[in-house]
Formats: sequence, C-alpha cells, structure tokens
Amino acid sequence: MRDFAYARAGTAESAAGALADPRTSVIAGGTELLNWFRLGIAAPDRVVDIGGLDELRGIAVHGAELRIGALATLNEIGEHPLVTRTAGALASACLQAASAQIRNRATIGGNVLQRTRCPYFRAEEPLPWPCNKRDPGSGCTSLAGRHERQAIFGWTQDCVAVQPSDPAVALAMLDAQADVLGPAGPRTIPMREFHLTQREAADAGQPMRETRLEPGELITGYRLPASADGQAYVKVRERASYEYAIVSAAAAVRLDPVLPGACGAGRIAAARVALGSVAQRPWRLTLAEAELPGTPLTREALIPVIERAMADAAPLPQNGFKVTMARNAAVRALLTAGGAS
Ligand SMILES: Cc1cc2nc3c(=O)[nH]c(=O)nc-3n(C[C@H](O)[C@H](O)[C@H](O)COP(=O)(O)OP(=O)(O)OC[C@H]3O[C@@H](n4cnc5c(N)ncnc54)[C@H](O)[C@@H]3O)c2cc1C
Repeated sequence: MRDFAYARAGTAESAAGALADPRTSVIAGGTELLNWFRLGIAAPDRVVDIGGLDELRGIAVHGAELRIGALATLNEIGEHPLVTRTAGALASACLQAASAQIRNRATIGGNVLQRTRCPYFRAEEPLPWPCNKRDPGSGCTSLAGRHERQAIFGWTQDCVAVQPSDPAVALAMLDAQADVLGPAGPRTIPMREFHLTQREAADAGQPMRETRLEPGELITGYRLPASADGQAYVKVRERASYEYAIVSAAAAVRLDPVLPGACGAGRIAAARVALGSVAQRPWRLTLAEAELPGTPLTREALIPVIERAMADAAPLPQNGFKVTMARNAAVRALLTAGGAS
C-alpha cells in the first residue's frame, strides 16, 4: 500500500477544485477505488472524501423530473418509492447489482465510473500480461486469450472490454442527464453518450478514454424524466446474486389503449430499449425503438425487430452466444415492461 494524503471536502466546488490536480482522486463509497489501490490500477497522492457532502444527496421529483444526488446509494435508489414509481428499470437495476452490503455503500456517482471486470485488466501488480488499459501500447491479452464475456459492439484490436454497470444501462435507456461540475462550471452529459466505445474513443484520438467526463469534473447528480411507462431491467448472470451481468437489458413500454371488445395482444405505442455488458457503453437499440410502435407485444413479433436492430453485432470467436442472449434479454425486458410476462 502506498501512502496518500486524506482530506474531507467541505463543498462540491472545493472537491471539483481538488480534482483539477491529476494526482488527486475523490472517494465516495470506496467500493471500487480501494480495489484499484490494491491492484495497482490507481495510486493517487491525495484522496478527497466527498461522502459528507449533503448537497450531493437526496432523491426528489421536481415537476416532471426525477433528481437523484450522486451520493445516493444503490439501495437507497432501489428502494425509494419515487424511483420505483417513475423509473422502475433504474430501481430494479440498482437492486440487482452487487450484494446488499455493497449496495449500502456503493453510490450512483461512483457506479457509472467503475471500470471493466476484464480479468486481464483486474490482475494484481506487477501485471503478468499486456493490457492496453493498464499499460498503453502493450497489447490486449484478452483478444487472443479468453474473451467470452467481452464486447460484441464497438470494440477495437486495442481493447475488447465491456462496461459492467447495471444502473448505467437503465440511466441510458431512460434518457437521464448527468449533472457535472468542473473547472469550466456546471454542465450536463446525456447518459446515453456518457461512456465511449473503444471505436468512438479511437476515432476521437484517445483510444483508452472511457467516458466523456473531463479531468477535474465531479458528478453532482442525475436528472431523468419521471415516466409512467411500464419498465423492466433483465439481468442474465451465472448466479442470482452478487454477480455481474453476462448481458442485460432495460426497457420502457407504453401500450396503445385497448379498444373495448378487442382481443389478442396489445400493440406498442412507444418503447425504449438498451443492452448492457455488450460494449464499453450501454447500447441503445435505436433502430428497434423506431420500428416498435404498432408492433404487437408478443415474443414472435419482437424477435425479428430486435434482430434487425442488432444486425451490426460483431462477436469475437468465443462470445457469439452473447448475441442470442442479448436479443432474448431485450425481448424479455420489453415483454415484462409491457406487462406481458
Ligand atoms: C464485489 C463487487 C460486486 C459488484 N457488483 C456489481 C454489479 O453486479 N453491478 C454493478 O453495476 N456494479 C457492481 N459493483 C460495482 C459497485 O456498484 C461500484 O463499485 C460502486 O457503485 C462504486 O461507487 P462508490 O461510491 O463505492 O465509488 P468509489 O469507489 O468511491 O469511486 C469509484 C470511482 O468513481 C469516482 N467517483 C466517485 N464518485 C464520484 C463523483 N460524484 N464524481 C466524480 N467521480 C466520482 C472515484 O474517484 C473513483 O474513480 C460491484 C462492486 C463490488 C466490489
């Protein structure tokens, strides 16, 4: 363990100011950052604790908007009646993450900044193999090694990792905005653009960049439209608790009103759907969203729509199964959100 200085932030502004120094990290719940210290992924000289900042807490509805402070824990969000009522997919994603103990400490600000679970990235120092995220230019061991849990969209030869956050998938699906505070003042980042695929990062000339958060920026909270649409979050994993997703899907569905005397399945009026753990960012199926209005809410009708929207999937040799699994998760999320399963 390396020594580091520790300070408690008095205000969000002072925390953001401290972050302007690249040798400083902020700590919220510490469930991710302390693992990075242990593995050698991060070694800051100074740690600024934002855990005491009441201005970053709270869950409230203002008009048609749900606001969630960056320090809200996953359990607080998952169990809050305002969230279960207006953003059910987010509540469900939070409660399906990690374990009850971790959810009591893990904040939603830190959650979207967690890093990949790629085992080659998560190795302890000294790193026994190349990893471009840990040692830029060294190579990607996963590409020629094991990669069954890795990306099927947006990867490059430099890195095939996925972003593992559950809440980020629901936030992207629900068109949430992240409020951030940095050296240039406050700004917002749409959550569907917050994370970058490896391809997007490479095209921007920063192949290892993972988010649009600039150095020195602090997440202060999230705003999302309070929604009356049915919602669901489906997480496919190897065991029912304390396990990351192999794939996941978040969906929101509004059905056309059923005419008196009509029989058969309802039809979709509007739908949103995003996949998780298939890329380095949540993957909105925008082509499906455009096609779904008018579609009957049945498995048979939904499968071809989702397949067309996923036609550009590019699985690696060991993870072709994720294409089918993600398709099925999306269909199940839509059916559940629409009340058909
Ligand atoms: C065993 C285990 C299992 C897990 N399983 C899951 C799972 O199934 N699904 C899932 O989604 N997650 C899972 N997680 C991840 C967990 O949810 C995150 O570790 C947690 O949410 C991070 O929040 P934190 O407050 O502890 O962040 P910290 O560890 O305090 O910080 C993490 C990073 O975010 C930065 N940061 C924190 N808050 C802010 C802010 N407001 N503004 C800017 N930067 C900030 C820190 O500087 C640091 O870089 C798991 C974690 C563990 C340890």
